Amino acid sequence: MRISRSLLPVIFLSTLAFAQTGSLHGIDVTDLDRKVDPCTDFFEFANGTWRASHPIPATQVRWSKRWQSGETSKDQLKEILDGLQTSKSRAKGSTEQIVGDYYGACMNESRVNARGVEVLKTWFSKIDSVKDTAGLQSVVSELHGIGVTVPFTLSGSPDPHKPSWVLADLSVSGYALPDRDYYLKPDARFKEAREKYVPHVARMFTLAGWDQKTATAAAATVMAFETKFAEAALDKVALRDPSATDHNTTFVQLQAMSPHFDWTAYLKNLGLAQDVDMNVDQPKYLQEFDRQLQQTPLADWKVYLKWQVLNSTADALSAPVVEEHFAFFGKYLRGQSEIKPRWKRCVESTDELLGEALGKKYAEKYFPPEAKARAQEMVRNILAAMRDDILSRPWMSDETKERAMAKIATFNPKVGYPDQWKDYSQVDIRPDAYFEDFLAGRRFVVNDDRQTIGKAADRGRWGMTPPTSNAYYNPLWNEIVFPAGILQPPGFDNSATDAVNYGSIGVVIGHEISHGFDDEGAQYDYLGRLKNWWTDSDLKQFQARGACVADQFDKYFIEPGVHHNGKLVLGESIGDLGGAKVAFLAFQKSLEGKPRSADLDGFSPEQQFFIAWGQWRGDAIRIEEQRVMMQSDPHPIGKYRVNGPLSNLPEFQAAFQCKADSAMVRPADKHCDVW
Ligand SMILES: [Zn+2]
Repeated sequence: MRISRSLLPVIFLSTLAFAQTGSLHGIDVTDLDRKVDPCTDFFEFANGTWRASHPIPATQVRWSKRWQSGETSKDQLKEILDGLQTSKSRAKGSTEQIVGDYYGACMNESRVNARGVEVLKTWFSKIDSVKDTAGLQSVVSELHGIGVTVPFTLSGSPDPHKPSWVLADLSVSGYALPDRDYYLKPDARFKEAREKYVPHVARMFTLAGWDQKTATAAAATVMAFETKFAEAALDKVALRDPSATDHNTTFVQLQAMSPHFDWTAYLKNLGLAQDVDMNVDQPKYLQEFDRQLQQTPLADWKVYLKWQVLNSTADALSAPVVEEHFAFFGKYLRGQSEIKPRWKRCVESTDELLGEALGKKYAEKYFPPEAKARAQEMVRNILAAMRDDILSRPWMSDETKERAMAKIATFNPKVGYPDQWKDYSQVDIRPDAYFEDFLAGRRFVVNDDRQTIGKAADRGRWGMTPPTSNAYYNPLWNEIVFPAGILQPPGFDNSATDAVNYGSIGVVIGHEISHGFDDEGAQYDYLGRLKNWWTDSDLKQFQARGACVADQFDKYFIEPGVHHNGKLVLGESIGDLGGAKVAFLAFQKSLEGKPRSADLDGFSPEQQFFIAWGQWRGDAIRIEEQRVMMQSDPHPIGKYRVNGPLSNLPEFQAAFQCKADSAMVRPADKHCDVW
């Protein structure tokens, strides 16, 4: 198979990531808590004073310089959006018209409130008019068209055995709580969540105009129905194994799994051929869906679908619905005390549904070509460090190393924004109809994905919008993606030393690269195929090294009785350990052949590197949000993303001269080393 992009150079570039002139700033010393010994609790040392003086804002569930930077992007987007609304060139179908009117309609809260839940009428009537299974099926496919993807989702995904081809992937999405355990586990916190969820569903139905008695009965129906789906679904740890969801399925097999659903009609409604290549993530779930089709009365199905419409579109409805939705999912489940201001929710909605139209304007203004070139160079340097790091591993055979090098050579870094922008000109947006605009945006997103199915993959597509303050690795295309939104100060800062840049955004870059070689990513080969490329003994070594990290994180508690699930956070934790290691190596390499730079504010370049990581990743997180994370988030909390990997790094211990018995130095028999 041919790879559609040129191979990356794997040589080291000797230039600095930043053309540094004038005086550059180092880490922010006012953030440090100097009362804490860096060798005892580095997270507190690096960032304790900042956290003490920057409590989590009422509208946030976590806070750090990194999250603050993400919120700054939203201020910038607001400025752009305010400008678009009053722009002179606003022809129908222009970015100015589409994005400006979408935001304007969202901001017109009095109009949204005046229309109330009337806007749902069309959809509730459609559901009410269902007379039989055929009608139910047709409503399900219509709902999928507006992003109400229950009880399953069908979306485009590269074929894990031939990633240059996009197949239809059928995945699970039948319940509204964050994870199946919320429905099933006896623990007090899940039990409480269930007890609060049912009356929340009832209140939502009353806000939609139902009487109390009907709403209460409906809520019980929803809970029972969603629990059935949760019982049939795999848990989050099982889902981390790509082979657990790898089921290439023919149409005949699909029909055999779920004979009571008319798949011919469904695929036709979606514009897909019957013989489209398909993967069914969880066959057992699909069988349960089929059982529900037979067993559950139509009346209950209708209640369930109405709930899903209401829940899924809640944020686009009038204030009482928005507030009730927030009270349960934001305030109760995640501990966010206040809802974000409307303008920010409207910015987020525009970014979510019209992301590349808005993102193009954002990138033009906030991500100049020089920044892109510098970030690309940093990515190249860190990728080369990963290559050197793998080659230096004594436990890995030459045979496996050679295959790892092939994978390094096909890494595709994407930086800032896509080369090809999506065309939004046909999205019908009106200045006075936010709910319909919201559905139009949803339809665009759904169709934009659907049109990729059953075709050769377009590797230029992005899975995040340019203003997003985040990054990802996609094993199927072996790509690392860094939107412009994360390449912003203080993580990526032209006025900071290389030590600070490598220590913050550099570790993020190293983290995404390391995902290619974490417990999940390592199962994909240089062409993105789910195919083992390890020798047996190397694989055993690698798995044992991973087990060390899983064991380390299993012992990290957030409160008595509640700790990380090492297997759930394993990939992210290997990413952090490898990320810190290879970013540090790249940083060291960038210093070679130059006079050693003087200490800054009393800290050596190496110390600045690690402090930068501690400061950028220094999140304070509400306890409610931490509890949700323990259950459903593969990322550890900030404290352990800092102290976890650094306590395994001899480079950190040397930089701060930590004694062998300090808390930040894991004892020899517990020391973990993967990359
Ligand atoms: Zn990650």
